[in-house]
Amino acid sequence: MEKLALLGGDKAIQRPFRKYNPLGQEELQAAREVIDSGVLSQFIGAWTEDFYGGPKVREFEHAAARHFGVKHAVTVNSWTSGLVAAVGAIGVAPGDEVIVTPWTMSASATAILHWNAIPVFADIDPDTYNLDPASIERNITPHTKAIMVADIFGQSADMDEIMAIARAHGLKVISDTAQAPGAMYKDRFAGTCADVGGYSLNYHKHIHTGEGGIVVTDDDEIAERVQLIRNHAEVVVAGKGVTDISNMVGHNFRLGEIECAMGVEQLKKLGGFVRSRQALAEQLTAGLSGLRGLKTPAVRPDRTHAYYVYPMQLDLAGLGLSRDRVCDALVAEGVAISRGYQNIHLLPIYQRKIAYGSQGFPWSSDICRRDVDYGKGICPVAEGLHDSNYIGFGMCVYDLDAADIDLIVHAFRKVWSNLDSLR
Ligand SMILES: *Cc1c(COP(=O)(O)O)cnc(C)c1O
Repeated sequence: MEKLALLGGDKAIQRPFRKYNPLGQEELQAAREVIDSGVLSQFIGAWTEDFYGGPKVREFEHAAARHFGVKHAVTVNSWTSGLVAAVGAIGVAPGDEVIVTPWTMSASATAILHWNAIPVFADIDPDTYNLDPASIERNITPHTKAIMVADIFGQSADMDEIMAIARAHGLKVISDTAQAPGAMYKDRFAGTCADVGGYSLNYHKHIHTGEGGIVVTDDDEIAERVQLIRNHAEVVVAGKGVTDISNMVGHNFRLGEIECAMGVEQLKKLGGFVRSRQALAEQLTAGLSGLRGLKTPAVRPDRTHAYYVYPMQLDLAGLGLSRDRVCDALVAEGVAISRGYQNIHLLPIYQRKIAYGSQGFPWSSDICRRDVDYGKGICPVAEGLHDSNYIGFGMCVYDLDAADIDLIVHAFRKVWSNLDSLR
């Protein structure tokens, strides 16, 4: 038996994996053409033709709407900006509650707070890591206005169930599909099943433009309000004839012409990137099958997984080891394993309820109509996964091939055949 690297043996993986880089000559040429044109942005924050931005912004939005099969695609300078615009566009008011998953990037919840609304955390499904519809229902109160789902790690949430709950209670749904562009839910793209959704274009997502995001919706009014919040709504509404001016507090969330020109090229490659990620993940799952106490990703039969992250779980009782011991052994062999999301409700901002100013606004003000609990224990599944048995491999950061996957499988098998030496 080979000696584990953690215990002084040789590493199973002796070379670094290539960094992910989805950009090529096409993006270079597209960016060059924009620079040659001299027009790096053409937005004007006023009700004129240029309120909608320049030619590449419009071309990318048109291509994205066609690609994802939606009526409207609106580009933004980050998906964080897209989330803020989406929450505002659906008419969330100060003190409204929005149900959100704790197992996501912090921006999903911060976008709610941005409008002085109150994030309420529901628990997740232990197989898919996405919001559990039953927990959503338990957290609905008379103050609930919307649900924010995240298609985490690359697999869509249970959209039919969640949309049915939302419709029954008169709630809007926002889909944070930053990690799952190109994944399918039944016959639709993930991100397009909610009232409004969208994708991140930051540099570690499947396709990217450095920074950026795309908001998608079939709703004309939501699209218009996202466009307004993106581009200085308050000075535009009068000229545009917008009479409902609630949340028409504008920003500059505009994406540039170079990014959009590159985005057009990236979008053409998305399907291929996702398919190759899926093939590698299937190879990894096959290679890891039969390892006792290791649970590989569960993909629901009615959807596909885009594998931003390859999520796994350990059966610690069966292994007789702590997660940290197993992770340390895998990391020592050269597999960069992560231990999951710090649950958002456990961040200091929620634990101390200090957001705007130092006096506890918005929770301490009378816009907040009840004492919302962010205590440890409110989301036992998500907390347990983070605290004890989740492990993940961030496929998104590498440009992997089949030989790399073989090495990863070899590293896992080496650790598993030496579990006794770790105990
Ligand atoms: C990346 C990400 C975001 C934020 O996207 P940016 O474009 O980096 O602002 C939000 N939510 C999730 C789940 C993400 O993975």
